[in-house]
Amino acid sequence: MRAHSFEAHIPMDKKINLVAGVVALTLAITAAGAAEAPAPTTPIVLKAAHLFDSVSGKLVDHGVVVVVGKKIEAVGADAKIPDGARTIDLGDATLVPGFIDAHVHLSGVASNNWYEDWYNGIMRFPTEQALYGAHYAKVTLEAGITTVRDLGSTDYIALSMRNAINAGMIPGPRMLVSNYAVGSTGGHADQDPVPPQKIAVATPLQGVCNGPEQCREAVRYQIKYGANVIKFMPSGGVLSLADPVDNVQLTQEEMNAIVGEAHSWGRKVAAHCHGDRAAKMAIAAGVDSIEHGSFLQEDTLREMKKKHVFLVPTLFAGYWTGQRLDTFPPSIAAKAKAASAAVKQMFQNAVKIGVPVAMGTDAGVEPHGLNAKEFSLMASYGMPPEQVLVAGTTNGAELLGLADQTGSLTAGKFADIVAVPGNPLSNMAATEHPVLVMKEGTLYVQPAAK
Ligand SMILES: [Zn+2]
Repeated sequence: MRAHSFEAHIPMDKKINLVAGVVALTLAITAAGAAEAPAPTTPIVLKAAHLFDSVSGKLVDHGVVVVVGKKIEAVGADAKIPDGARTIDLGDATLVPGFIDAHVHLSGVASNNWYEDWYNGIMRFPTEQALYGAHYAKVTLEAGITTVRDLGSTDYIALSMRNAINAGMIPGPRMLVSNYAVGSTGGHADQDPVPPQKIAVATPLQGVCNGPEQCREAVRYQIKYGANVIKFMPSGGVLSLADPVDNVQLTQEEMNAIVGEAHSWGRKVAAHCHGDRAAKMAIAAGVDSIEHGSFLQEDTLREMKKKHVFLVPTLFAGYWTGQRLDTFPPSIAAKAKAASAAVKQMFQNAVKIGVPVAMGTDAGVEPHGLNAKEFSLMASYGMPPEQVLVAGTTNGAELLGLADQTGSLTAGKFADIVAVPGNPLSNMAATEHPVLVMKEGTLYVQPAAK
């Protein structure tokens, strides 16, 4: 099982950790936003009944956003309208910043047949899988997700997608990618325990490492081949065959090496963690976010608040998996059940304590393009709706290191803009049905011309 917790189900992700083809481009974290698609020339004015200000967390009436080229030129009812602008009046809708999903696996998706996915994961060529990925990127963007953090893929598929999107070759969200997740032999970043005579054993090149020096090497390989962010596996995960869901899988020295090395290259670090003990160690190592967090205890959550470590709860993955337990091998079903049972209380504790939360879905575990269901789950579990939208906009941008580029409807930032019907604060499900999606000034979803 190559991928990551709930995430690990991704066929190519885990199963094919064989050897890898490579495409390499070393982009700094912020560079992923630099698309090369030509900027539209006609200014666009978006009008709607409401606008969500993700900086103040407030809904304001008479929403107006002026877009020139790739950027937001002005915001507010009294904004100056440029000559020759095209106005799109969205009526009773709300303008929100383009959504940011801080945890996806855009290169693959799980079906309801775990065994068939495993077979496809082995048999598909990476080039073939990348074409599937192009489709997943498109439906994700059309769902209003204008930026993603891709936390784990094999064969440099997500990296290739990122570069093709940046080059304007395929439509998709702005992507930050981690390449291979980093973790120990037999752990959640490793392959399933296929006999080593049949599938080559993974090495630090594919993220599998033992001891601080090897773990530094594993991080260096991911960065060498273009990773914007490092993903690692302090604890076990759900969708892997052979490890417990919550055990500690790396030593403190290994975690310190992984986080320290990534930070010294200017990369943030995301820790896949269901288990509480492993999370405490990852936080001590200086990690930037805890992914999933199913079994986190209150003292750990308080430490996260104190150190401003983000929680990316991926509620949708647990919800989705929990509804199809009988489609998995029994060992995985048992882990999914345990994690799903714990995550709601953990999330409610995190909200009560005030842990910074960024929205993340683990899409790929569930189908792509349904990402906004995460917002509805967060709201239904008791997070105030304003905070839910902030988690999917401003907070995501901060966690990804893109706060100067996206995450709010602010003059000078990229024109990443979504319109949802009505008022999402009173009906969060509205975020699942965007009527307009713009990324860097280009429209990908818009109302039919009247
Ligand atoms: Zn994941």
